[in-house]
Amino acid sequence: MGSDNTGQSLPSLDSQLDHDFHSGWGSVYTNRSTVGDEETLPLWLQYASNKNSVERKYQQLLHEYTDLFGDFFGGYYPISMHAHATDALLPTTIASLILNTIATSPLVLNSPTLKPKPDENPEDTGKRVRDFALSFLGWDDKHILSPNFIVADNIYGAGYGPLAHTSKEWEISAIASGPKPIVVNMKDTTEEALDAQFKDAKAKGCIAVVFDLVSTEDGLVLHPDNFGMIKACCARNRLLLIVDETMTAMRCGAPFAFQRPEYAQMEADKQPDLVIFGKGIGVSGVAIGFKGVITTGLTYTDPDDIRQTIRYWRALVSRPIRLPLLLEALSILRAAQREDWPAKSEQIGEVIREVIGELDPRTKKPDAVRGLGAVVAVNREVAMRFRIMSAIRRRSPWVRWLPKLSGSSADREELKRQVFGRESKAQRQILAKEADQCGTIPLWCFICGIEATSKDWCRTCYLSFCDNEVCVQAFHRHACV
Ligand SMILES: [Zn+2]
Ligand SMILES: [Zn+2]
Repeated sequence: MGSDNTGQSLPSLDSQLDHDFHSGWGSVYTNRSTVGDEETLPLWLQYASNKNSVERKYQQLLHEYTDLFGDFFGGYYPISMHAHATDALLPTTIASLILNTIATSPLVLNSPTLKPKPDENPEDTGKRVRDFALSFLGWDDKHILSPNFIVADNIYGAGYGPLAHTSKEWEISAIASGPKPIVVNMKDTTEEALDAQFKDAKAKGCIAVVFDLVSTEDGLVLHPDNFGMIKACCARNRLLLIVDETMTAMRCGAPFAFQRPEYAQMEADKQPDLVIFGKGIGVSGVAIGFKGVITTGLTYTDPDDIRQTIRYWRALVSRPIRLPLLLEALSILRAAQREDWPAKSEQIGEVIREVIGELDPRTKKPDAVRGLGAVVAVNREVAMRFRIMSAIRRRSPWVRWLPKLSGSSADREELKRQVFGRESKAQRQILAKEADQCGTIPLWCFICGIEATSKDWCRTCYLSFCDNEVCVQAFHRHACV
């Protein structure tokens, strides 16, 4: 327990909550430092005194991480790692990744006619393997030379690159580049209509269908029936099924949201091929499963075959992830497993919905609160009323609350006392005082969610804002706690 000179004491780190439900777009899962994890701490200490001796364990640690990830996420392995989820979601990257997965699959390597032969001209081997991959996927030159995605119409439009074309924020759509994805409404549709759209898109060069289960746009949750429909249509049109779990992994009552029972049982023999994961896990990237709509046909069952294809893909880059990040990613995963964050996220979401329902009965109305588990979507006005730093997009009426998953995030009384209720004033002022002492400011603009810049922030509420004129004006209208 620490204390400040007002006599108020700070709760221990694990029970300390705050109203930062933005947390870097949900990329912070815990307030606690993961350096202190008992399995990782010795490695950090060793790293500080003799970096090379830990570097020599790099491959071993990377394998350990890969296996732990595969175990935690039900058979999905982190094959490709990237600085940002947006970097992973490029059609060309995904096309190369799946071609590599085919070329190194048991289907090819165990086939007497397909496998590379020692006395053969390498060009002939390449051509044979490639021709096989194209026929397996139902691809022609279009899919190789200008691959494209089919995306759900209310998917997050990414920060840049091809998916930015779909953004409803002009600042983002204005910088979009690359092929425009084919946008399909996957929510209000019939299987026949969806199938026809997928078929048409495939003929035009689409290789995959990308969607998320909780819309970043409006917090709506994909109906399990629609999930089943998408799976069936992907299988029929030989399209890769990619779920974007950047925001939902560990937060929606299951390791990946699509592993919740109501989704998992739809067309259960067909699973997503690839999953996009985000920084909350320590690193962003693409996870691959081998019971996917497409990948299942590649006959990966032996764990050695799986490790081998992952190794081949990773060999294409110098080191997929730097050692310190790898150590951090390992301890995050261990904490998530030990404390069962997926189960906890369900409780956190429930308790938050109850607490705000109690403090503001209007939020109990049907459809007033959306989202799933610890992805809570509320109207912007509600976030303003509770003075919560939220993951906001400037022009969307819906904001997301992405609370941390460790410690007392599911403790009703603490949530009232430190976050939502009038009593939170005390906790907010402790944070404000601490920030002034350290020369920092609240991280996010209370109005638009980008980095806050104002030194003139509110010391009563511990809230700040950015330079945008609209934000400055709106911020000055907020009612203090
Ligand atoms: Zn702003
Ligand atoms: Zn204020």
